[in-house]
Amino acid sequence: MDGEQRVRLTEGDTMESGLRCPECGTYTTLSDIISTGQCRRGGGRGSCEAHLHVDVVVERQSE
Ligand SMILES: [Zn+2]
Repeated sequence: MDGEQRVRLTEGDTMESGLRCPECGTYTTLSDIISTGQCRRGGGRGSCEAHLHVDVVVERQSE
């Protein structure tokens, strides 16, 4: 799939074991996603081809 899809995370998307991959549903720790760019099933370890990165949105209130 080409392009980029943004997913707003909610409570159901995280567990103690990590973050849910929107593509395959596998839970992967946030630090693994940030360091590898893929979920636990990605790369040579599985069949998931999703490339993931994590953005943090900072909202600042204007005065
Ligand atoms: Zn995945």
